[in-house]
Amino acid sequence: MRAPQTAAQARQPVTGRVLIIEDQRPLRRVLELNLAARGLQVDSAASGIPALGLARRNSPRLIILDLGLPGMDGLEVITRLRVFCAAPILVISARDAVTAAEDALAAGADDYLGKPFAIDDLISRIQALCAGPGHQDGSAERPAIPPGQVSDDDGVAGSRG
Ligand code: CA
Repeated sequence: MRAPQTAAQARQPVTGRVLIIEDQRPLRRVLELNLAARGLQVDSAASGIPALGLARRNSPRLIILDLGLPGMDGLEVITRLRVFCAAPILVISARDAVTAAEDALAAGADDYLGKPFAIDDLISRIQALCAGPGHQDGSAERPAIPPGQVSDDDGVAGSRG
């Protein structure tokens, strides 16, 4: 899963808004402080419903998501985010939860980091995800088919009645 990273990429500062979804307050606070100290704007939530509201309102550039949340499960949060949000999702969860991580990636997450982790590792993942293609902004509003382009299926649909 780990993509090779160039030195230039590692030094590249990341700017923009990040959404942290983590129910453990001390860890959430550490993440907030460290990311804000690197110049990022930080939103945070302790559970899924408020997190979805923040994602919808603020179109974060990247989302950091703990899988073990009270109420709505982390996997469900991913599924619901993906309906309207294309921002990369970095999942953080217990190291032994390999299956959970695979489920998260299958549900639409982009990367996984086991707890406990070093902040430097987290920052590296964030930089790599934000440098990736197709994630320049957090919106999912681009249509799958460009306007004016009609697929082959549409062409034959009428004759089949
Ligand atoms: Ca948790």
